[in-house]
Formats: sequence, structure tokens, C-alpha cells
Amino acid sequence: MESKFYHGNINPKQFAKALHGYFNRNNLNTKEFGSKDKLIVQIATRQNAESGGDTAIPVIIEKVPDGVSIQIGKQSVLGVAASLGISALATIHNPLNLLNRIDDIAQDIENLQLKDDIWDVIQQVASKHAATMTLSENLRTLTCEYCLVANPVSEPNCIACGAPLGNLQPETCLKCGYTIKHSTQTCPNCKAKIARD
Ligand SMILES: [Zn+2]
Ligand SMILES: [Zn+2]
Repeated sequence: MESKFYHGNINPKQFAKALHGYFNRNNLNTKEFGSKDKLIVQIATRQNAESGGDTAIPVIIEKVPDGVSIQIGKQSVLGVAASLGISALATIHNPLNLLNRIDDIAQDIENLQLKDDIWDVIQQVASKHAATMTLSENLRTLTCEYCLVANPVSEPNCIACGAPLGNLQPETCLKCGYTIKHSTQTCPNCKAKIARD
């Protein structure tokens, strides 16, 4: 499962609304489960869709302290694979059958690109609300390991006890937005190498 973290003043509902707006069309529809802080929007092929095989993909949207985490679940593609298989077989037997299957093939291909489309919609919502993959200013505090006093982020030493805070400074992975400690080399979420100057 692939997850990303968007930091800022944004809530799960705003993402869910955009997904409903974008994916309730043609052969697809959306359903929503869960409460306001943890939502699952399921995007699936409509029952009795005119063309293509069945597919479904869940998007899990959760409120986290500094924003929203989004996870796209595993897409079930058995229906699509079966439908593409039928198209392939039909055209082997008689190439003219391709003409009868064109709608199915187009729909199946579109369904297989759902995941990219979902990330596009998510990214648009994030940009619109100025949510980013770096920590937002208002939540940039960190707790001293020794005296437990909250310090503003980027303070080199604890304002109360003077202990060095360098290793505690939180950062985020710029690829997925995951919050990490300063010394982290590899993002625990997306496995990207953390670049530092
Ligand atoms: Zn301290
Ligand atoms: Zn990452």
C-alpha cells in the first residue's frame, strides 16, 4: 500500500469530497465509510456497467496531528483482467471481434490507471488548500528529551535546560511527507533516501 502525508490546515472531508466529485461518473461510482477523522472512499465500477470488467479500489483518508494521511489500498483487478482476457481471446479467433470489444478495452485500460488518477485528484486538493509535504509552521514544536519542555522547531538548544536539540528536529520525507527524525537516512514509509545538504 502506498501512503502519503499532507501537512497543513486540511481535513479528510475535503479530500473525500473531491474524490466523490471526480469519480462518480461513467462506469464508476464512489461510496464512503467511516467517521470524519478516518474515512474510506471506495471507488468501484458501477453494477451493470456497460463495458469493461469489475474493479474496486479503497482510499483511506485519516486525520493526523499535522494534517492528513492518505493511503491507496490494493485495487482488485480480477474483473478487469478477466475482461481483457476475453477481449484478447475474442480477437485471436476473429480480428474483427476487436471492433465489438473496443468499449470494453478502453474502459479496462482506464480502470487500470485509476491509481494515478486518484493521486492526481489528491494532489489538486492539497495544492488548493496549500497543504504540503513539509511540516506546517503552526505545529513546529518539539519536546526536549531531558526536561520535556516544548521548544520551537529550529531552536538549536532547549530554551529551558539548554540541552542540544539537533538530533530531535523533525523533518519530513519530501517524496511522501512522512515525519522523520533528523538522523533518519531512509524514509520508513516510502523507502526513499533522505537527501540532506
Ligand atoms: Zn530541556
Ligand atoms: Zn517517504
